[in-house]
Amino acid sequence: MRTSHRLSERADPLLTIVVPCFQEEQTIPEFHKRITRVVKRLPVSCEILYVDDGSSDQTADLLRHYQDGSNVRCLFLSRNFGKEAALSAGIDHARGSALIFIDVDLQDPPELISSMVYHWQMGYDVVNMQRDLRTGDSWLKRTSARSYYWIMQRLVEKVDLPVDVSDFRLIGPAPLAALRALDERSRILKGLIGWVGFRTIELPYNRTSRHAGNTKWNAASLLDLAIESILSFSRKPLRIFSLISFSFFVSSICYLLAVLVAGSFDIHHLLVGIASFMCVGVALVGEYVGVTLAEVKRRPLYFLNSNNEARPMTIHPPASSLEGKKC
Ligand code: UDP
Ligand code: MG
Repeated sequence: MRTSHRLSERADPLLTIVVPCFQEEQTIPEFHKRITRVVKRLPVSCEILYVDDGSSDQTADLLRHYQDGSNVRCLFLSRNFGKEAALSAGIDHARGSALIFIDVDLQDPPELISSMVYHWQMGYDVVNMQRDLRTGDSWLKRTSARSYYWIMQRLVEKVDLPVDVSDFRLIGPAPLAALRALDERSRILKGLIGWVGFRTIELPYNRTSRHAGNTKWNAASLLDLAIESILSFSRKPLRIFSLISFSFFVSSICYLLAVLVAGSFDIHHLLVGIASFMCVGVALVGEYVGVTLAEVKRRPLYFLNSNNEARPMTIHPPASSLEGKKC
């Protein structure tokens, strides 16, 4: 995919801003106005890559109107695949060496991009925007997000999953290459970005309300995301089940020996023994499935730090006052 882009004569931009859109006809015009203003002031060359995630309203038509074949490009997915898939399409088709994800509903203020770029130029590989205030989110969203991070931080091992960081982030060249090396189907990007590592910073911001329209998430889809995330990054539930099964097995053996010695053994006691034995069997199968899952994903064993490569970046002062290369 990238090869075909490289065939074009125009130099690739340094940064791609990936914007997933699903049923967003009400928010796109205002977003496009603001992002274009921001991009003009960035000290790096950049492209905007809209990803229409199978919208059935005017979203695709609006995006077609904005695309200019060079600095504003669009991808149109064949149906609604979900935000994670839209972001993955952005990763695959981005021409920039670094990438920013931003929602189109203006809950993530585009004006913060200059600060993200500044921190990237200061040497951070990943710049995560962390919501310190969530004034724009509903009670359900805030509570489910809090529970999600609480559970994930307990279940997921060896992955840095900072609280209240969602998809609004900058991903530098090294982590971007690492993400592209991951071939797994079930992609929970917020977990994968933590998993690949690299030098990361969190910048606090206030997540405001949607400019227009409604969130596409409901309780069922949030639960789905939580289950997918746990299955993708943790084998702890399996291990907990195994430990419970094993302790149940040991207790029932002790119990059976006790009733044998007491001479009160009957067929019901045998059923307890068989049940505990089967639990251990199921737990063992689960453990093997867990190991197989890790093998099937074929995640790389490690990545080298980005300091191992020459960094083609220069340090710039904070972006607000700069009129640099234009999009
Ligand atoms: N989105 C998408 N595909 C979907 C659902 C959402 O591309 O199936 C996009 C949506 O257009 C927006 C972003 O993902 O740009 C965040 O969606 P939303 O505002 O519904 O989520 P929330 O901010 O409530 O987490
Ligand atoms: Mg939103």
